[in-house]
Amino acid sequence: MAMQPHSKKRVCYYYDSDIGNYYYGQGHPMKPHRIRMTHNLLLNYGLYRKMEIYRPHKATAEEMTKFHSDDYIRFLRSIRPDNMSEYNKQMQRFNVGEDCPVFDGLYEFCQLSAGGSVAAAVKLNKQASDICINWGGGLHHAKKSEASASGFCYVNDIVLGILELLKYHQRVLYIDIDVHHGDGVEEAFYTTDRVMTVSFHKYGEYFPGTGDLRDIGAGKGKYYAVNIPLRDGMDDESYESIFVPIISKVMETFQPSAVVHQCGADSLTGDRLGCFNLTVRGHGKCVEFVKKYNLPFMMVGGGGYTIRNVSRAWTYETSVALGVEIANELPYNDYFEYFGPDFKLHISPSNMANQNTTEYLEKIKTRLFENLRMLPHAPGVQVQTIPEDAINEESDNEDKIDKDERLPQKDLDKRIAPDNEFSDSEDEGEGGRRDHRSYKGRKRPRLEKGNENKESGDKKHIKDELKSEKGEDKEDSKSIAESESKDTGPLP
Ligand SMILES: [Zn+2]
Repeated sequence: MAMQPHSKKRVCYYYDSDIGNYYYGQGHPMKPHRIRMTHNLLLNYGLYRKMEIYRPHKATAEEMTKFHSDDYIRFLRSIRPDNMSEYNKQMQRFNVGEDCPVFDGLYEFCQLSAGGSVAAAVKLNKQASDICINWGGGLHHAKKSEASASGFCYVNDIVLGILELLKYHQRVLYIDIDVHHGDGVEEAFYTTDRVMTVSFHKYGEYFPGTGDLRDIGAGKGKYYAVNIPLRDGMDDESYESIFVPIISKVMETFQPSAVVHQCGADSLTGDRLGCFNLTVRGHGKCVEFVKKYNLPFMMVGGGGYTIRNVSRAWTYETSVALGVEIANELPYNDYFEYFGPDFKLHISPSNMANQNTTEYLEKIKTRLFENLRMLPHAPGVQVQTIPEDAINEESDNEDKIDKDERLPQKDLDKRIAPDNEFSDSEDEGEGGRRDHRSYKGRKRPRLEKGNENKESGDKKHIKDELKSEKGEDKEDSKSIAESESKDTGPLP
């Protein structure tokens, strides 16, 4: 596969200046504010001059039910903090309430997050961009119908984005470097050979409990789910030693024509919920490596709970996408005080022990290579016809932000969360396009109904069976109650 290390890419970036105002609630580790911090930092690095910035449309219920059940999306649209008591039963059914609380504007938040990833996919499908970035997306734990909300995620923007890409791409590769297993995306595509999901994550006594090395997909999707279970303390060197060979082999055998990269930043050192020891540079190296394959590339966010480091990582990864170097000295920005005492972009690893020995990593690699050898080269059926885009040309609600409008002050305007919500104490932790078709001006008949969707139907059963086979069902560590005990500062 062709690799060109220094090619310049057309980059589109999706951001809504309201996103930072959504607030999960007191002490909740998930803070959409980190996306605004990222935005402000990359503006002040001048990166906005090198890419197109779009305000995502709000994904409609119709778009979101391409994956989620109608019932669930209707519920998300209806529920509010002031009418919660009327929805007890559904809250239980959909797993909304604890880790996934009801908050003001919840539905809109989901619409923006999903809207960005769907728009990014449409943009890539049109070949109007090489790389599309949606730091508001990457919510990989959300499921199709029952217990849909999970791990701070409600709507799975990634699955929606991939479904859109599948209209033009025969095979899509999904890579997940969040510290948690990318269970929602894996489950959605567990029985198809058109999406390969590759997740690197902490495994063992850790949320969400799935992602065993032996979980490899089922039916037609057998060998198309790849899980890399890791122990505490992964550092840059170990991570690269497993990421590079596995992704190289995956590219060689699966030959995707588009890639979605979930850049969850809770795998960074010092994350409030994570337990890895990656630096911003090590995390970004993954993006850099994948970018070199020159495939249509979507980058989304994900977890990340020490928010000053999240914004460092995603700013750096935006610069990697653009192929520009940015200074280690942080430019002055609206949240400058967060970045003390050093005010640098790059961070140092801690002295935590790396429990992933070379032997352990080698063993995993060998096992995974054996599985990948089972893949036929260039698998899958041909797409016969191309269904309509989620966002069509006529009602193009793309909202491109004018360069003059992009002043850093602009997104300061609407801070509604209490001021000390943003205090450091709260986030302190211990620490070749051959599948493309030219379609302009051509009538596009619909793809046979459900071709890409129906595969996700049986998945739950299969996974449940696998689970009970192994006699394990470990849920764990990411309850808010637990993480709250780490909070030190006084809360409003
Ligand atoms: Zn995570």
